Order: sequence, then C-alpha cells, then structure tokens
Amino acid sequence: MGTADVGAVIVGAGISGLAAALELQQSMGEVVLVDPSDRPGGVLRTDHVAGFVVERGPNTFRASAALREALFGLRLDNEILRARPASRLRYVLRAGELVAVPLSPFGLARSDLLSMRAKLRLLAEPFVRRGDGAGESVAEFVRRRLGPEVLTRLVGPFLTGVYAGDEEQLGAGTVFASLVEHERRHRSIALGGLVQALSRRRPRGLPGSWSAPKGLGPFARALARQLADPPALHTRATELRWLGSRWRVSLSGPAGER
Ligand SMILES: Cc1cc2nc3c(=O)[nH]c(=O)nc-3n(C[C@H](O)[C@H](O)[C@H](O)COP(=O)(O)OP(=O)(O)OC[C@H]3O[C@@H](n4cnc5c(N)ncnc54)[C@H](O)[C@@H]3O)c2cc1C
Repeated sequence: MGTADVGAVIVGAGISGLAAALELQQSMGEVVLVDPSDRPGGVLRTDHVAGFVVERGPNTFRASAALREALFGLRLDNEILRARPASRLRYVLRAGELVAVPLSPFGLARSDLLSMRAKLRLLAEPFVRRGDGAGESVAEFVRRRLGPEVLTRLVGPFLTGVYAGDEEQLGAGTVFASLVEHERRHRSIALGGLVQALSRRRPRGLPGSWSAPKGLGPFARALARQLADPPALHTRATELRWLGSRWRVSLSGPAGER
C-alpha cells in the first residue's frame, strides 16, 4: 500500500469539494481531490436531450459576492448565465392547488399561504430571544424565530424543492447562513436585514438567479479544469484517522489502496 504526504485531501468532488480545492491549492501546495464517481460535480448533473438542457440536480443558484469574485478571478464569468426572471416564481402545492410563494413582505402580507395568526407571529420576530442558530436544524431555527406555520407551509416545502432535503436535518448555519448571522449580530433576522439594507458596505453579489449556458454539469467540469491536478475519479476515501498532528486518509481506487 503506497503512501504520500500532501497539503490536503478533499473527500468528494461535488461543488463544495471543487470550491475547497480551488481555494486550498493557492495556499496548501499539493491538493488531492477524490471522488468515487466517473465525473466531478456531485449532484450537479446535466443531460442534453433533443436540444434542451435538462438538469437532473440543481438548476439555478444565487451569485454571492464571494462567488462572483472567484469566477472573475478564474476567468469563468462567461460560464454563467442569468436565469429568466420567471424562474424566480415558486409554487407550493396546497390542497391540490398551486399557491405562489410570495417574494416580498407585501406579497407575504397579501398571500393566503399563511393564516392571520401566523402573520402576526411573524411580526413578533424582533422580540424573540436570541438563540444558537448555528447549532440548530433549519426546522428548529425557523420554528423558534418565525413560528411553526411558516415552517410547515412555506419554508419546508420551499426547501424540499431547492435542496431535495429534509428541513429537520438540514443545518440552519449552512442553509440560512446570513439569517443566522443576522440573529447573532443583531438579535433578530428582521433587524439584521434592515441594517444590511441600510449599510453602504454590504457585499454585492450579482442580482437574480443564475445558471450556466450548457448546464451546471459542464460548469462543474469547467471548474475542475482549473485545478493544477485533475480530480482522482473512481477513488473513494475509506478511512479518516487523526494522528495527533495530521490526518491520515485511506483511499481505494484504480491506483490501488493508498
Ligand atoms: C435534486 C436537487 C435539486 C437541487 N436544486 C438546487 C437549486 O436549484 N439551487 C441550489 O442552490 N441548490 C440546489 N440543490 C442543492 C445543491 O445542489 C447542493 O446543496 C449542492 O450541490 C451540494 O454539493 P456538495 O458538493 O456539498 O455535495 P454533493 O454534490 O452531494 O457531492 C458530494 C460528493 O462526495 C462524493 N463522495 C461521497 N462519499 C465519498 C467518499 N467516501 N469518498 C470520496 N468521495 C465521496 C460523492 O460521490 C459526491 O460527488 C439541489 C439538490 C438536489 C439533490
């Protein structure tokens, strides 16, 4: 069994692993990115069918200030495409009918997606005591700050659409990083949002939703091509062991056991 000392081993070449590898290769020397699949991208998977781009996983994303900066730095800003405004519209299926997800506070006030009681509960958000959002699931965070109905009628169905995941298991600190930060710094999501809206120094992302001209699968492969060493595909991490000052990562793949 061969061994090698490298700066970092990144387990999984999904979008998280690709982003970590691109960042770490600047500072940590040799970076090994491994994935058991036959292509990088994880759940970013695109088929081209009869001239259409068919996304099997995510289809749009928000272009944060950090992402925007990274893409400009990598000269990949031409690899993303602004989605049509209609793609912002989302619907929740309730009692057999599609109900539009409100996109603004005024829309929310007028929507019948929430009961009057739930809307009044929302107004109480600034008075809810600060908690540990970073340690909570999305469900715990939303229930505590915004009330149970907002979770079951709005946030839960919406997130199932976005992440294909369970809000009881998704972490609030990851999915709602900026809202958790608003609570930590300003005691309230609403107050934090207000402070950010009034601040001139807030980081500016690209407005709207974004996608990629050929789909997000090819976009992931374009990111992988920016790596000094291509991802080691068909390779699985089988064990992670902390040795006191460094990690030992056991790998199994075409190059044998490492
Ligand atoms: C159907 C669907 C639709 C979505 N729609 C959207 C959307 O429109 N907008 C949006 O912003 N988000 C969306 N999401 C969420 C978003 O796609 C994910 O949050 C994100 O892609 C996760 O990336 P990741 O790299 O963390 O994980 P993954 O993409 O799951 O990648 C993990 C990688 O780790 C590898 N791996 C696993 N075990 C090992 C091992 N032992 N050794 C080595 N490698 C291993 C896997 O093969 C995989 O490639 C959607 C998700 C799904 C599933």
